[in-house]
Amino acid sequence: MGAFIPKHLRHTRPALRSYCRWCARRDARKALFKLVDGPLSYYFCNDEHAIRWCDYRHSCVAVNKLLNTPPSEREATLRGVDVDVWVAGQLNLNEL
Ligand SMILES: [Zn+2]
Repeated sequence: MGAFIPKHLRHTRPALRSYCRWCARRDARKALFKLVDGPLSYYFCNDEHAIRWCDYRHSCVAVNKLLNTPPSEREATLRGVDVDVWVAGQLNLNEL
C-alpha cells in the first residue's frame, strides 16, 4: 500500500475580499468591520451594519433567507429596493 501523494498540488489563496453581510457591499477584508462569532467570522461595512444584521437576522424567515443569500442573487428578491427598506417592509416597520 503506497502513501497517498497527490499528483497536483492545489494552491489555495486566502480570501482577501469579502462582502458586507447586511448590504452586500464588496470590499477588501482588511477594509471591512470583522465580527468574530466562535469559529466564524462575518464582515460588514461598519459596526452599524453589524448591529442591524445581529438585530434582524432572526427576525423572520424571509429576512433570514435574504441575509444568507449571496450578493449576486439578492437582486431577485430586493428588486432595486434598499435592504433597510426591504427588511422594514417585511417586519411592517416604518423604518429601521
Ligand atoms: Zn454594509
